[in-house]
Amino acid sequence: MVVKATSVGCGGHHASAMTLESALDAVFKSVHVVAESESVGLMDASGRILAQDVVSTTNVPGHTNSAMDGYALRWEDTRSPGSVSLHVVGESFAGHPYTGALQAGECVRIMTGAVIPDSADTIVIQEDTQRNGDMVELQAECRQGDHVRLAGEDIRAGTVVLAAGRKLRAADLGLLASIGVPDVQVKRKVKVAYFSTGDELRAVGEVLENGQIHDSNRYTLHAMLGAAGVESIDLGVVRDDPAALRAAFAMAAERADVVVTSGGASVGEADYVTDILAELGEVSFWNVAMKPGRPLIFGKLHGAEFFGLPGNPVSVMVTFLQVVRPALAVMSGEPYAPPLRFRARAASKLHKKPGRMEFQRGVLTCHEGADPSVDSTGRQGSGILHSVNQANCFIVLDLDSGSVEKGDWVTVEPFLP
Ligand code: AMP
Ligand code: MG
Repeated sequence: MVVKATSVGCGGHHASAMTLESALDAVFKSVHVVAESESVGLMDASGRILAQDVVSTTNVPGHTNSAMDGYALRWEDTRSPGSVSLHVVGESFAGHPYTGALQAGECVRIMTGAVIPDSADTIVIQEDTQRNGDMVELQAECRQGDHVRLAGEDIRAGTVVLAAGRKLRAADLGLLASIGVPDVQVKRKVKVAYFSTGDELRAVGEVLENGQIHDSNRYTLHAMLGAAGVESIDLGVVRDDPAALRAAFAMAAERADVVVTSGGASVGEADYVTDILAELGEVSFWNVAMKPGRPLIFGKLHGAEFFGLPGNPVSVMVTFLQVVRPALAVMSGEPYAPPLRFRARAASKLHKKPGRMEFQRGVLTCHEGADPSVDSTGRQGSGILHSVNQANCFIVLDLDSGSVEKGDWVTVEPFLP
């Protein structure tokens, strides 16, 4: 169904804004996980999303081995009364195992990671021994199985080590290498085409004339898209001109799974994005009860998901992080994970009017023995980008809440790396 922006009261202030929660619901109902997957080598797999479960075909460790430098022995040989001396019959180094089996009264010198010989079951660390020629005297009690790393104690052959949907991190790559997996099947990257809109925008490096500004949103978007692990397609700056915008919309939707624009999303006379989306595609919503970020447009453009972000730089970041990023994660094949939020005490009064959910920018500190504390970064205008530069978290204030007094508990959401 094509909903004409004008018919839903795009120009008016009467239409009630959607809650962020229902906006997210609408987004999650609309998006699909990319179907295609590809094989990548481990060295290229960091940050990619597994398309299939990975089952280990081997035990890790593959062999029962020593956790310490010392002597491998048969524990029963240490049971005889009085001091115990054993005959050192060989050595086992990492990568160079001792191939024989131990007889009564024998032991082998062993290094960390080296295979434990047949019939040995215990390691005595070298600090607890006295070596005399080819004999070694034990100088401390030991328990059976001391310092033995059993084959398969980390990973058992046949178990799922990483499940489909996993975003691969450093420890995962190490784990995959340890089971001898050279490459993995991952989801293809979601493709996102993005552009800025506005007659006042000039690229960095261009000389500004009266009333012109540098286009900063494309740079923050570029970085945020990169961090989200998608393939991004930069379509530059598009003028506030319906014909130019129509052409850019069509090109973006043809090349990508998702189209992200900034600017021109509001109700001003040069704000065309909602109308053009209604004309060429479908508008799902265009007005969300959040601050910053009220004029946030979502819909479909041909086969692509469309996000029309506001123009103000802080609004771009907040709407991207709260709405676009979770959508991209789901499309990439990750299971939805709600944002990590917890409570901290406000270090100063926070001004707020009821009616919109707010994402103020804060500096969170956690000192041992004290409650976590969060302070505002100061002026919170949606054009004040350095309110984000200075921050390490959002202070998330409910739609209905009013101002917060110093010392009150508030919800914080730390920025992800
Ligand atoms: P708009 O939503 O187009 O009315 O833009 C709202 C505000 O954000 C205006 O002050 C614009 O100049 C500013 N703005 C829009 N796009 C950008 C951009 N790409 N970079 C920096 N500021 C922008
Ligand atoms: Mg504009």
